[in-house]
Amino acid sequence: MKHIDDKGRIAVQPWMVEPATQAVLGALAAGGAEARFVGGSVRDALLEGRIEDDIDIATPAPPERVIELLEKKGIKVVPTGLAHGTVTAIAGTPPRHFEITTLRRDVETYGRRARVTFDADWAGDAARRDFTMNAIFLDPDGTVHDPVGGLADLHARRVRFVGDPTARIGEDVLRLLRYYRFEARFGAGGGDPRARAACRATAYLLPGLSPERIAQELVKLLEAPDPVPALQMMQEDGVLAVILPQAGRLDRLRRMIAIEPGTDPLRRLAALIDVDGAGAAAVAERLHFSNAWRNRLGGLGAPWSIDPRQDTRAQRRTLYRLGAERYRDIALLIAAEEGMSDDRLAQLLALARDWTPPVFPLTGHDVTVLGIPPGPRVGRLLKAVQDWWAAGDFRADRAACLAQLEKLSATPASA
Ligand code: ATP
Ligand code: MG
Repeated sequence: MKHIDDKGRIAVQPWMVEPATQAVLGALAAGGAEARFVGGSVRDALLEGRIEDDIDIATPAPPERVIELLEKKGIKVVPTGLAHGTVTAIAGTPPRHFEITTLRRDVETYGRRARVTFDADWAGDAARRDFTMNAIFLDPDGTVHDPVGGLADLHARRVRFVGDPTARIGEDVLRLLRYYRFEARFGAGGGDPRARAACRATAYLLPGLSPERIAQELVKLLEAPDPVPALQMMQEDGVLAVILPQAGRLDRLRRMIAIEPGTDPLRRLAALIDVDGAGAAAVAERLHFSNAWRNRLGGLGAPWSIDPRQDTRAQRRTLYRLGAERYRDIALLIAAEEGMSDDRLAQLLALARDWTPPVFPLTGHDVTVLGIPPGPRVGRLLKAVQDWWAAGDFRADRAACLAQLEKLSATPASA
C-alpha cells in the first residue's frame, strides 16, 4: 500500500497531473467547484496498481453546472447519466474519460434504477457507494479522505459493503455480482461472512438483471488474474447455479489457468462450462453475446477435433480447418482436460502461432470457366479440391489443383 504521510497525503500520482486531468480539474476549479477523485483510480493508486483508463471524480456541483464549466473551457462533455448526476468529460490524447458525478443520495431504489437527490455531503456520497474500498476520496493534492473505513479494508484485502449487505443488494442486485468480482481482484480469500450470507439470501433476485449486465460482470470476473477462488464462493453460495448453471468445471478452469499463456475471458468461460458445441452456443445465447463471441464460444464445446497424438502434418491440416485462434484455444482446453506434457503443449501452441496458412490456389472462377453453371456444385467442387490439397499437406500448386478439379468435375458423382 502507498505510504500516507502525517498530513494524510499520498504523493501526487502521474495521472493526477497529466494535462487532460489538469484541464478537467482546472475547468471545475475555475467555477469554484470542488472535486475529488474516487473509486477505481484511488483504490488502484493506493494499491500501487496501474489505474484503469477511466477516472471517476466526485463534486458537489450539480450536473448542469459541471457541463457548463467544462464546455466553457472547450472540453468535450457527454451527458452519460444525467439523471444520476453523471457526465463524462473526454480530454487528452489518447482521449481519457472522466466520469464526473455529483455528490448524491439514492432516495428511492427500484431494481437497478434509483431516484436521487443532489444534496449529499462527502460522507453521504460515500454511504451510497458499494464497497468501503470504493468510497475513498482523494484531493488533487494527494489528501486522502476515508469516511467509511475503506483504507483499513483495502489494506486487509477485505471487500466490505458500505452498510448492511442485504439492504444494499436489495437496492441494486448488481452489487451482488460486483461483490464476487471485487473479491476476485482484491479479496484475501474466503470472503466476508456477512456479505456471503446476504448473497446467498438474495441470489434469487439475480434473474432480474439483464443478460447483458450478467455477462459483463461475469467477463470482468473472468479477467481477474485468478477468478477460481471467487467462483468457488459463488458456487458454494448458490450464485453460480442461478446465473450460469452450466459452470460445473472449476477444476478444469483451475488447471487451464496454470498453463495458459495469457488471460482470455472467453476461453476461460469455455473451460468452466460443462457442455458440447450446442450447449456452448446456448450459453452464448443466454448471455446475449455478440455474434463474434457466439461463434467463438460455440466452436469451443466438446468434442474437440484436435488429436494431440497425431503428427505435425495432421496438426497443420486441423489448424488450417480450425484457424489459429480456435486451434490454440482447443489445445489449451485439451491440455487442461486430459493433461499434456509441457513440451507437447508448447509445440502445438508454437505451431498455431508461427504457421502461416497457405492460400488455396483456386477460386470459383476456375470452376465456372470449366462450364459448370454458378450454383451449389461450384462450392462443393472447390471444397473437395481444397480438402484434397490440405490432405496433401498443401503441396499441390495451382496447376495440380486445376488438374484435380478437372478430374473431379468430369466425374458427376464426385461432387
Ligand atoms: P473498475 O476498476 O472496475 O472500473 P471501479 O471501482 O472504478 O472499478 P466502476 O464501475 O467504474 O468501478 O464504478 C465507479 C465507482 O462508482 C465505484 O468505485 C463505486 O464507488 C461506485 N459504484 C459503481 N457501481 C455501483 C453500484 N452498483 N452501487 C454502488 N456504487 C457503485
Ligand atoms: Mg471505474
